[in-house]
Amino acid sequence: MEYDVIIIGGGITGVGTARDCAMRGLKTLLLERSDFATGATGRNHGLLHSGARYAVNDPDSAAECIRENLILRRIASHCVEEHDGLFISLPEDDLGYQYQLVEACRSCGIPAEIIDPEEAKRIEPTVNPALTGAVRVPDGSVDPFRLVRANELDARMHGADILTYHEVTGLITQGNRVEGVKVRNTHNGQQFEIRGKITVNAAGIWSAGIARMAGVEIKMFPSKGALLIFANRVNKMVINRCHKAANGDILVPDGDVTILGSTSDRVPLGECDDVRVTPREIATLLREGTKLVPILSSTRILRAYAGVRPLVAEDDEEAGRGISRGIVCLDHEQRDGLAGFITITGGKLMTYRLMAEKATDIVCSKLNVKRRCETAVIPLATRPSTHSSLLTSRSSLLTPDSLYLCECEKVTVGEIRELIVSGEVATLTQLRRRTRMGMGKCPGRYCALRAARLMSSAGGKTIAECGRDLADFVNERWKGIYPITWGTTLADAQYMASVYKGLCGLDKIPRS
Ligand SMILES: Cc1cc2nc3c(=O)[nH]c(=O)nc-3n(C[C@H](O)[C@H](O)[C@H](O)COP(=O)(O)OP(=O)(O)OC[C@H]3O[C@@H](n4cnc5c(N)ncnc54)[C@H](O)[C@@H]3O)c2cc1C
Repeated sequence: MEYDVIIIGGGITGVGTARDCAMRGLKTLLLERSDFATGATGRNHGLLHSGARYAVNDPDSAAECIRENLILRRIASHCVEEHDGLFISLPEDDLGYQYQLVEACRSCGIPAEIIDPEEAKRIEPTVNPALTGAVRVPDGSVDPFRLVRANELDARMHGADILTYHEVTGLITQGNRVEGVKVRNTHNGQQFEIRGKITVNAAGIWSAGIARMAGVEIKMFPSKGALLIFANRVNKMVINRCHKAANGDILVPDGDVTILGSTSDRVPLGECDDVRVTPREIATLLREGTKLVPILSSTRILRAYAGVRPLVAEDDEEAGRGISRGIVCLDHEQRDGLAGFITITGGKLMTYRLMAEKATDIVCSKLNVKRRCETAVIPLATRPSTHSSLLTSRSSLLTPDSLYLCECEKVTVGEIRELIVSGEVATLTQLRRRTRMGMGKCPGRYCALRAARLMSSAGGKTIAECGRDLADFVNERWKGIYPITWGTTLADAQYMASVYKGLCGLDKIPRS
């Protein structure tokens, strides 16, 4: 096997780079050791930053954010909610920071308008009524899972090969050149080599480990962030605290729910594979979050989760929130004298397209390919045609496939069936990552059962296999629930346990 470009990592940076490379006519391969979006991409707020959060201290990153914010609204409108955001000042905040923020936003090209606190309360009734100031900015929210899926579909449509569950275990080097990768199929253990003219390291926080395989050092700063999802949409717009970035000061509305984040703590690189939310982090988030919107204190918490930001700190003095969120694109030929190897990391979910463009530009210049980047103008692929919009627009087309399998996330039977029949997914958890099935308010209580039945009737799995898959799905979801099991969440968890154990007998099915 020989490719023009091999990309390591199936987060947003990797799939975005695969799309760009394939659109420019390169023979492209993407390798992901697990499933898509299992790294930081599936573990963030999904805030479509206006850039205001970074305008004062990190203006380059802020300028990247507003530019990409406007592009994503155009090319990925099906993944974006445009609702704007507020930066609110509370009595204990220095109101002078508000003016500094507005000034900094303007010099980065971010529209920022000071509004009267009374007006802020009118447009956002749940906001802390004690607020002393408010600034309106063009924040929004972006769905990471749909964004990854759209880039993946587009990359494939343009000819890219994509292998999930294939881990890069080493780099093939010849003299001062990387010539490909050593790969292990994580399902069957098979090992083989794949040759590529250029290898792009888009492995997020794991980029340092990949670079080390080629004897190159990248100083990553693994910054863990914990987040909470609340079972209602309590705010219409993003609410940020108008002060220097701190814990629990962003509240992002996302469909029917609200995401509160985040904390920021350095963790050892070795812990990035399994980050858990601690009681201390939950207490911090709740204390700070209820200052933004007091009603959060009585709103049911749905899940807790954490991710690790792939930050780069070349300077030993830099720490945590002070590290730039700007894009880090390293041409290792220039930096370390190692040809055929590029690292693309840092940045943000919502600046992934620009990250991909920068990496692909370098790949093209090395391969002498002249085709220009078109990802800022050509819209991304949308969801399959079986989506339930048919229900509302043309009710005469009502078929079993046009019914919702997951009511919370509006995923149809047809969409799920298509993925199962095509062989693209083998488990309920993979279905969840591609469609958002089971990610809504009821955390998959009923839709997972229905999807398990389809896995049997349309996918040919035995009842025992479906039962084991369902148990794996429930256990995976439980990881996000157990840190917050008190009050109504505990009652809900007990109800679910009685359904899965008592009615379905999941605890009696032998594990695979
Ligand atoms: C708490 C938190 C909140 C955030 N909030 C926001 C936000 O609101 N808005 C925003 O824009 N950004 C946000 N971010 C940042 C954003 O999530 C990340 O910048 C972005 O998702 C990084 O994507 P990535 O593809 O570079 O890395 P990842 O998503 O981590 O992907 C790297 C991939 O590489 C794979 N991999 C690793 N090693 C190997 C190997 N050996 N072989 C094959 N594959 C391998 C991994 O499995 C993983 O899937 C947040 C991040 C965190 C942690």
